[in-house]
Amino acid sequence: MGMSSRSPGRLPPAGRPWRGSPARLGGLVLTTALLALPTACGGPGPGATASTGSDASVGSAPIADAGDFGLTYQPAENRNLAGLIDPIREAAVIEPEIDWLNQAFALPRDVAVVWLECGEDNAFYDTETTTIELCYEMVDDFVDRFEADGDDPEDAFWYAMDAAAFFFHHEVGHALVDLYALPITGREEDASDELAAITLIEGWEDGALTLMAAMDSFYLSGMEEEASGDAEDLPFWDEHAFDLQRFYRIACLIYGSDAEEEAWLVEDGSVPEEQAEACVDEYAQKRESWSRLLEPYYLETPAP
Ligand SMILES: [Zn+2]
Repeated sequence: MGMSSRSPGRLPPAGRPWRGSPARLGGLVLTTALLALPTACGGPGPGATASTGSDASVGSAPIADAGDFGLTYQPAENRNLAGLIDPIREAAVIEPEIDWLNQAFALPRDVAVVWLECGEDNAFYDTETTTIELCYEMVDDFVDRFEADGDDPEDAFWYAMDAAAFFFHHEVGHALVDLYALPITGREEDASDELAAITLIEGWEDGALTLMAAMDSFYLSGMEEEASGDAEDLPFWDEHAFDLQRFYRIACLIYGSDAEEEAWLVEDGSVPEEQAEACVDEYAQKRESWSRLLEPYYLETPAP
């Protein structure tokens, strides 16, 4: 990996890559749903509903379920990107997540999810049209980045799809904040990253591994920013955190979700030792507050 030295407190040490899962040809597997989480007010046992009787109860969403997430693939003119469409379609990483979201949430209107050629490496949520746009360029860029970091093309593609799944959930976060007018404190960008991380960790088998591909992509692009001096040129008002900051925040959430299982993140310096305890508290607090924010909009607990 070529990283032999470390700037204390700034860059993580050698010991990467974290994206450790072999190509997972089955894509994501739903285990427990985020909404089945026990809440702090005395969660129900396994098999019980998530309703605690205190506030809005599950199954009585305050809005009519008048919409769904719906996925489409647009053609691409760029030949390289056009060649990605079938593999992305066959990987079907986003599809089960959309099914789950449609079972889980009452939506006031449809949300289109569109894979398309954007002209840039990115993903968007458009509040006017309630459309999530996922750019083919994003996958292409992740593949290049992971290949440049030593992955063979097939692994790089699967890690790229994992990273794309994170960005999909990040945009879903923006969509839910918009559609439900959720009272988010702090930056919506950070909140969307948190929701994406929590959804993957809590809702999907190997979700933490999926998340690690995104974490790794932030590490690699963050290192590119550092190396090119771009980090200093980024405007301080940019609404997205610098990629290394997003890397550290995700590492903190992964560690905080299971301090024993993910202790290696402290050992390798991805989570600074003095922050480890706070990450555990932060994860529990974020998970709880997202559960509370979304509970009024849950339709049902989807069967695993
Ligand atoms: Zn965003």
